[in-house]
Amino acid sequence: MRHVIESQQYDVAALEKLFNNTDRILEIFQAGGNRQTFCSSCVGKHMILLFYEPSTRTRVSFQMAAHHLGMTTASTENAGEFSSAVKGETLSDTMHVICSYHPDVVVLRDKKDGSAHKAAEIADKYGVSIINAGDGKGQHPTQALLDVYTIRRELGKIEGKTVLMGGDLANGRTVRSLSYLLSKYPRMQLVFFSPPELQMGEDILEHLREHRVPFLVETRSSVLPALLSQSDVVYWTRFQKERHTTAETADKLAATFAENYSIGPAEMKFMRKLSILMHPLPRVKEISLEVDNDLRAAYFRQAQYGLYVRMAILQDMFGKK
Ligand code: ASP
Repeated sequence: MRHVIESQQYDVAALEKLFNNTDRILEIFQAGGNRQTFCSSCVGKHMILLFYEPSTRTRVSFQMAAHHLGMTTASTENAGEFSSAVKGETLSDTMHVICSYHPDVVVLRDKKDGSAHKAAEIADKYGVSIINAGDGKGQHPTQALLDVYTIRRELGKIEGKTVLMGGDLANGRTVRSLSYLLSKYPRMQLVFFSPPELQMGEDILEHLREHRVPFLVETRSSVLPALLSQSDVVYWTRFQKERHTTAETADKLAATFAENYSIGPAEMKFMRKLSILMHPLPRVKEISLEVDNDLRAAYFRQAQYGLYVRMAILQDMFGKK
């Protein structure tokens, strides 16, 4: 795989291969075992991280993943504010320049949907790979890979599960990439729960119809208890404040959201014993801190799996075969 641009590019066989390697990496770390097995597998490879939007987990875990595999990294600190973009440079000019410095991969996060695609067209001319680390409201494929891995690791398998996604589904990119990936597995049921103004995009619903994946769209907060009690995975997301242009609507929506679409101990009571609560993070107020000690709260484990999944992605792309 030259680039990682959108989650649909993976099929189940590719996912299984990736997840098996992730298991292997995780087990070596957890056993305090011999990291020699992977620490030099990508020596001589170079990564540039170019982030035009804030990031904590994606940026640091990619950097750490690269270092654990022996790659070097160079990173612009907050490219949205401190790079030449501020002076008016276009992404395509920046791509031409940084690709000419001979990196093997550019990990890119940008504000605009479709940027990763555009960047890949330029990167192809230089033989450089692009990994989409989030493009606006578009996709965040490596997040979806670690999300699906989390379900597999925590619940043993993916097929046949009911996955409830809640929050700002109109503006969150993780739920979009996750829906594409889950639609590859048999007997899935997807439930989209959000305020009426923040519903999942029609393009995703159309994709699910085409692939005959049963789904339900629900906006009434009164039915949340029933939805929670029927789900194996509860995947919550924050209100994407930065994607709303008028502060007034944003504040109003954020307030309704916090009041009616949050998970706290009372909501956890409705969840199944053997279910998990996931969140791509950052969490704002949509999951209360009291929930953290519940064993079903999987979000910090999920973030840690992100390191191992990203190592497996890099090994797959650049590891010595
Ligand atoms: N960190 C995730 C993303 O970059 C989720 C979020 O920001 O809400 O999309």
